[in-house]
Amino acid sequence: MTNKSVAIIGGGIGGLCLAQGLHRRGVRVTVYERDRTPADRLQGYRVHIDPNGARALRDCLPEHLWQAFLDTTGRGGQDFGFLTEQLGTLALLETPPAADPADDHHSVSRITLRQVLLSGLEDVVEFGKTYERYERTGDGRVRLHFADGSMAEADLVVAADGGNSRVRKQYLPHARRVDTGIATVAGKFPLDDATRGLISRRLTDGPNNVIPPKGIGLFCAPHDAGGVRAADGIGATEQGGALMDNSGGYLLWAVGAAEGRFPCGLESMSGAQLKAAVAAMVKDWHPDLRTMIDLTDDATVSLLPIRTSIPIEAWQASNITLLGDAIHSMTPMRGIGANTALRDARLLFLALTSGRAQVAAIAGYEREMRAYGFAAVRDSLRAAEQFVGDNRLARMGFKTFLRTVQRFPSLKAKVFA
Ligand SMILES: Cc1cc2nc3c(=O)[nH]c(=O)nc-3n(C[C@H](O)[C@H](O)[C@H](O)COP(=O)(O)OP(=O)(O)OC[C@H]3O[C@@H](n4cnc5c(N)ncnc54)[C@H](O)[C@@H]3O)c2cc1C
Repeated sequence: MTNKSVAIIGGGIGGLCLAQGLHRRGVRVTVYERDRTPADRLQGYRVHIDPNGARALRDCLPEHLWQAFLDTTGRGGQDFGFLTEQLGTLALLETPPAADPADDHHSVSRITLRQVLLSGLEDVVEFGKTYERYERTGDGRVRLHFADGSMAEADLVVAADGGNSRVRKQYLPHARRVDTGIATVAGKFPLDDATRGLISRRLTDGPNNVIPPKGIGLFCAPHDAGGVRAADGIGATEQGGALMDNSGGYLLWAVGAAEGRFPCGLESMSGAQLKAAVAAMVKDWHPDLRTMIDLTDDATVSLLPIRTSIPIEAWQASNITLLGDAIHSMTPMRGIGANTALRDARLLFLALTSGRAQVAAIAGYEREMRAYGFAAVRDSLRAAEQFVGDNRLARMGFKTFLRTVQRFPSLKAKVFA
């Protein structure tokens, strides 16, 4: 494989992780990324890395960057709470720290993760390259066309260009991504010595799902980088403004509901208007939750429409393949999209450096990736539907179930295993 060239379209979480692994093993790899700066507001929020993501980072990154990742993850607990809208505890899922950080859960700033993933790839990533289409050449290679009129050729192309993947639209045109009809508004409540005292300790102790009687859900999770910096400026804030500030602590919150529950014209609302809309929807909730929303800086508040891919049947493997959101984009309600993209990157890295023939290696990768990737899509859609569920009885049943497992630790351990 080392004499073959690999083109990765998209320098996001999955594409860069794969590039790190291949580059380290001497494979000729180029990443074509349309942008240099954080292109979307999502970059301003933290991301939860689970053991799938952590193992991929450990195996693909050089040792010093794996260490830089660990050095810049957020402090604070990972115990997951299920709460009522009056902050009553339904269940608390304890997540004791794992002995090996590669088997653990981490909270990381997306900006910092991107800095880690880009480190050492200065000669590998080409910025400002918006991919448009490909064609196959007579000698079995793939020619790529970019928006600036330039072209490039490669022996293997990996689509890592996210949920709106242009590669997927040409390669697997029947693979669809659809709106779920659910909208989410997210924001960042600043966490410092003054604001910590304003809200319940449970909210800053770990991630929580708040489950009111019906029709709406709230997720919140603390992230506290504590000003930690790794070598080479990793962990330093690139841009000004509260949204992109990754130096201090904050509580990320996201309120989701069916679009019809929000006021009309959501797409054109400012951060202040989105915040006011959400505040009205939670006006009867516990004062601490209302404080969290009221004291959030408007500049950090965004609308995030929730989309999902539709799983498709297996296709014939070739020298074009896909990873991450490009093939299995999912709702964020299970917090596993980036982790699944990282898992893909690791699996594809291992397949391509296994010594197997290229197409056979890709076929093996795709078989495994489709199974867990599309399972994650289905699971995440189910989680989104439950998050905004309108059936009061179903919610009551779920809460009773949570209260019951909370009372019996061995049952809880079994259920959440
Ligand atoms: C609110 C929210 C919270 C989330 N929280 C979590 C979480 O806690 N944990 C988790 O695991 N997942 C989470 N996710 C999901 C996660 O963000 C995605 O699944 C993940 O970013 C997918 O990684 P990727 O590499 O496939 O795509 P991306 O990270 O989207 O990267 C795609 C890259 O391709 C580039 N690109 C796109 N088109 C082109 C083109 N034509 N030419 C060149 N480059 C192009 C883009 O600029 C981008 O850099 C969350 C999502 C949302 C919406």
